[in-house]
Amino acid sequence: MSSERVVIVGGGPGGYEAAHVAAQLGAEVTIVDTDGIGGSAVLTDCVPSKTLIATAEVMSELEGAAELGVNFMDHEGDAATSIRVDLERVNARVKQLAADQSADIEQRLTRDGVSVLKGRGSLAGPDRVVVQGADGAERVLRADAVLIATGAAPRTLPSAQPDGERILTWEQVYDLDEVPTDLIVVGSGVTGAEFASAYLNLGIPVTLVSSRDRVLPGEDAEAAAVLEEVLTRRGMNVLSRSRMESVTRDGDVVTVRLTDGKEVQGSHCILALGSVPNTAELGLEESGVILADGGFVNVDRVSRTSARGVYAAGDCTGILMLASVAAMQGRIAMWHFLGDAVTPLDLKKVSSNVFTAPEIATVGWSQNAVDAGEIQAEVVMLPLSGNPRAKMQGVRDGFVKLFCRPGTGIVVGGVVVAPRASELIHPVSVAVAESLTADQLAHAFTVYPSMSGSIAEAARRLHRV
Ligand SMILES: Cc1cc2nc3c(=O)[nH]c(=O)nc-3n(C[C@H](O)[C@H](O)[C@H](O)COP(=O)(O)OP(=O)(O)OC[C@H]3O[C@@H](n4cnc5c(N)ncnc54)[C@H](O)[C@@H]3O)c2cc1C
Repeated sequence: MSSERVVIVGGGPGGYEAAHVAAQLGAEVTIVDTDGIGGSAVLTDCVPSKTLIATAEVMSELEGAAELGVNFMDHEGDAATSIRVDLERVNARVKQLAADQSADIEQRLTRDGVSVLKGRGSLAGPDRVVVQGADGAERVLRADAVLIATGAAPRTLPSAQPDGERILTWEQVYDLDEVPTDLIVVGSGVTGAEFASAYLNLGIPVTLVSSRDRVLPGEDAEAAAVLEEVLTRRGMNVLSRSRMESVTRDGDVVTVRLTDGKEVQGSHCILALGSVPNTAELGLEESGVILADGGFVNVDRVSRTSARGVYAAGDCTGILMLASVAAMQGRIAMWHFLGDAVTPLDLKKVSSNVFTAPEIATVGWSQNAVDAGEIQAEVVMLPLSGNPRAKMQGVRDGFVKLFCRPGTGIVVGGVVVAPRASELIHPVSVAVAESLTADQLAHAFTVYPSMSGSIAEAARRLHRV
């Protein structure tokens, strides 16, 4: 067991997961956070957005209920014509759930013997963290290792400034107490697509402003095409190749001006323009920590920065902005520093999900990499429309795609587009992580009828004699 002093700056998944590992390995651990344990992941980003999406999912399932023979009646027995969301209640639930989750995590840390300090931390050399407390008091903590896990914040532009009322970052949407009559979402990356899809399912007219040819430019093109088709079919106005120049507000009207001179008007606008790392004025460069372009902290695969004893994890490194990756980088940092067995971060094993309707889950090598010749792989794509469970549930959109190495048949990646694809991708993740072959994946029993039957079926189609 160690008696090393570890100071962690930032209490998101990168920070708090590292704290658990360091405490378990016997270190004396202090975690410093400005906004609350759980970080943006729990308080403003991941947890709140997925809680909102849970309500949106119920709404879209209800909409599809008639096809399955369920009708809604009002109290006089007449057919009900619409269902409506109570956004104030939804938002209150979102905020309460996030606050409870944050309190749970803090309690677990305290139980593990971690000291939790509220305040702003910065480096005064690689072995010293200065903490500016909320009351203005300053403390200096000596450390044998420091982990920087300060996360990132929504990017805004001088010409598109959020006002917190009608022009909103994703952190501000849960303060809405009225339902937008016309919502514009600027940005069609993962965050923009998730909010656009969620509010559409909540019954709100949505325009999605996308500077690229299609939504989700970073994802599997066939998956993105399915999603765009579903969104437009459900009534979303998707403006492709439309670059936002400015967002302004005049009373109740928000105007998004595009670079081609066109204008779109709505009642509210959500800006989803990406993130900037929280690395300014932290004393990083002065302490020998090299920052990359855009201010991200340079790290290697065991989370080391260029300064001895200083590690970094999560969004502030810009490696792959996911809570799961932040958490793993944080754990790896502590395993490495405290001398435990450690496997360097392998991004080819990360599974991720876009929580739209349908969801898009991916793991391992992508179609883009195969097309670009970065890896040789055989590909099979199986539409879900032939799956018996999908038919029973009225699901028509989506597919399962698997990539395996020619010759060995080892599964190297996959894509699932389906309701709850986030749950369906797991067998593919296990196959990728454990280098299973398509035959091994195919030979495991699946429940009949089940959506996961399509994963086994796709694997069977990759069998070569
Ligand atoms: C809308 C949205 C939805 C998302 N959904 C998902 C999802 O479903 N799944 C997923 O895996 N990822 C999701 N992500 C990404 C995920 O939220 C981030 O990758 C994750 O929060 C990164 O964790 P982190 O520990 O690096 O930083 P954060 O969670 O940002 O935590 C950093 C903490 O450090 C604090 N801090 C900053 N500076 C200082 C300082 N100087 N001193 C002390 N404390 C400081 C901050 O206040 C914050 O509390 C989503 C992101 C967004 C924007």
